[in-house]
Amino acid sequence: MLLVAHSVEAKEWPKNQPEDKFRQLEEILPTPNSYRTGSGAPGHEYWQQQVDYHIKVKLDDDNQRLQAHELITYTNNSPDTLSYLWVQLDQNRFKPDSDYNLSMPGVTRYEVKPRTEVGDKLSLKDFRGRVARQVFDGGYKITQVADGSGTELPHIINKTMMRIDLPTALAPGAQTQVQISWSHNIVEAKKHGGRGGYEYFERDDNYLYEIAQWFPRMAVYDDVNGWQNKQFLGRGEFALEFGDYTVEINAPADHIVASTGTLENPDQVLSQTQKQRLADAKGAKTPVMIVTEQEALANEKSRSKERKTWVFKAENVRDFAWASSRKFLWDAMTVKSGEQDVLAMSYYPEEGLPLWPTYSTQSIVHTIEQYNKYSFDYPYPVAISVNGPVGGMEYPMITFNGPRPEIDEDDRSKRTYSRRTKYGLISVIIHEIGHIYFPMIVNSDERQWTWMDEGLNTYLQFVAEQAWEENYPSRRGEPRNIVDYMASPNQVPIMTNSESILQFGNNAYGKPATALNILRETIVGRELFDHAFREYGKRWKFKRPMPADFFRTIEDASAVDLDWFWRGWFYSTDHVDISIDSVRVMSPDTKIPEVEQPFKRAQKQAEPTSITVIRNEGMARRVEQFPELKDFYNENDEFTVTNTDKNNYSSAKEKFEDWEQDLRNDHGFAYVIDFSNIGGLVMPLILQLDYQDGSSELVHIPAEIWRLNPKKTSKLLWRDKQLASVTLDPYWQTADVDLSNNYYPRQIMPSRLELYKSKPRKNLMKEAQAELKTDDKDSKEGN
Ligand SMILES: [Zn+2]
Repeated sequence: MLLVAHSVEAKEWPKNQPEDKFRQLEEILPTPNSYRTGSGAPGHEYWQQQVDYHIKVKLDDDNQRLQAHELITYTNNSPDTLSYLWVQLDQNRFKPDSDYNLSMPGVTRYEVKPRTEVGDKLSLKDFRGRVARQVFDGGYKITQVADGSGTELPHIINKTMMRIDLPTALAPGAQTQVQISWSHNIVEAKKHGGRGGYEYFERDDNYLYEIAQWFPRMAVYDDVNGWQNKQFLGRGEFALEFGDYTVEINAPADHIVASTGTLENPDQVLSQTQKQRLADAKGAKTPVMIVTEQEALANEKSRSKERKTWVFKAENVRDFAWASSRKFLWDAMTVKSGEQDVLAMSYYPEEGLPLWPTYSTQSIVHTIEQYNKYSFDYPYPVAISVNGPVGGMEYPMITFNGPRPEIDEDDRSKRTYSRRTKYGLISVIIHEIGHIYFPMIVNSDERQWTWMDEGLNTYLQFVAEQAWEENYPSRRGEPRNIVDYMASPNQVPIMTNSESILQFGNNAYGKPATALNILRETIVGRELFDHAFREYGKRWKFKRPMPADFFRTIEDASAVDLDWFWRGWFYSTDHVDISIDSVRVMSPDTKIPEVEQPFKRAQKQAEPTSITVIRNEGMARRVEQFPELKDFYNENDEFTVTNTDKNNYSSAKEKFEDWEQDLRNDHGFAYVIDFSNIGGLVMPLILQLDYQDGSSELVHIPAEIWRLNPKKTSKLLWRDKQLASVTLDPYWQTADVDLSNNYYPRQIMPSRLELYKSKPRKNLMKEAQAELKTDDKDSKEGN
């Protein structure tokens, strides 16, 4: 018996919703409010605190020590009442029992190569630092915390933060003063690490000081974090408030002091000649020496017992740093920034010759000219580059930069430098002077978000480097330079707190810089992106932007929805690897039997002949033996056009619309190109189509082609020419990590097979018989 089931066969529609790469970011970004708007601009009630400092500091060159007193004037512009203030004590990082020292893992790059796999490995420099920091008498010795009139204030120190309790809470709009007296030993920068410190020169028995994070600085209080009092662990840099500074630096009388701010008392600290040369540098188009090589070499030998006080003033800066030495050469020239003349100056010991007088000040000027184009006019009166022990670090108006030539100690006039040192010097100066824009002016929270200053700045550094000379060897910025990192394991998203970032340089500098370059060149376009980036700078200079403010501003000013881009590049660790899987060519079905049937026959005939058919060729067949067995079908194959076919077509044709007829008769080709997304990041499809007639064409398909399926997509292109090949991303614009699947048809990739010989085994017997060499150098010294 047959049972007929009436139930409809359940069709399966699994809800395998693919990941929506274009889902809007609103659910992740903070809700806009009156402090920060949905457009990414500061809101109508935006506020920030104001902190002014008056500091008197004495540099003890005999003991490498600072002793100082500061008066802080704190203005509460917030709508909140504050019962205490937090002060940052960055120098406490150098106490042996600091969290920085205690929380440091035993081996470097632990996150990349766990100990269990490769054993302990530590650079000599890192090992020296770890040892030195465990015995160094570092950190602040605070002798007074008082209010403006000298009355002691209750306070408690929590490692790198100090809370000062106010006797009366500070109301919105109110102002209070705090005095702090303190001293601390200066770290030896190359030994202890850090972003400032001293360098000792054995040859001439002199010190060079680069002084930073040297005074107790007010912590930030803002609308996003309240107090930003996350401890200083060494990597996540600084969150600071803007204010006006007066700093009186008391140093040995034969020292030259370079500093944030303008010198208020040149008559007391500069010679008549130096003042005249400085006047000459105003308006100078090339560097003018203020202290020459001969003068610096003479000064190196001086040991003055006198002291001088250099007074500097700086307005609207978020920090203050300075440098001091009797070794400094000093040069200066002028650069126009908007309506303002900026004095670009460099200070360096003779160890920096001949690189420094050639490249330093010119690099400062170049940076200001380039950054002004892409952000805003440099607003400060001076811009300084100092050579000393710090590899590269930025402060308002002043930067510390490390590269120097190699000196032949037997003949100190013989100096050479590597290509890397030369471009390393120009690049580091561009980078550090660039930081005066980001984050010294566009005041992002570095303790939290490293990419907001390093990434943005490294992006503009790339743009400025490319304007220095053709084919400038930029390390970061080009998409092709980031692919190894993008494909690497052990990554975290860019949107990760500074302290937890793995592969720091690539994550916080390289990847965001490249992402912005890709936005500019490939996704948004130069004109729109440059405008949007400038708009971000304009909106947030002298204010404190957060990540959402950047993301929102770029979209707001360009009308390009980039949520997918921020999501992919900033919130994920996916990479770009898009493959061309296949290319199919189709012509329209004309329905004309005399056209379509031969087409089908040709297709069939184009199939390879079966191996059996080939081997059976010449075989005696029955129908040859008995020809009477042949009939109509032996003469006509399955593709034969019949009268019925023709009649059917004639009647069908009458119903064709004109446009349908035109389309069916067009002798074009429909190419369908199939893509798969292997890496995860969705990106535009940039296609180079090469035709058989030798012509070629570039097609730019926006990333939105992936919006319904982020893993597979295809594109139909209608062309009147025959396609020979397709290349995806021919200019390497998207950081695609696997180029082998970017060609259709695939290409044979040229490479080199490295052929090597195995090393011979260690022969102890032979080595034991070798003659013992005497040490030539020791025997010479004995004579
Ligand atoms: Zn940097």
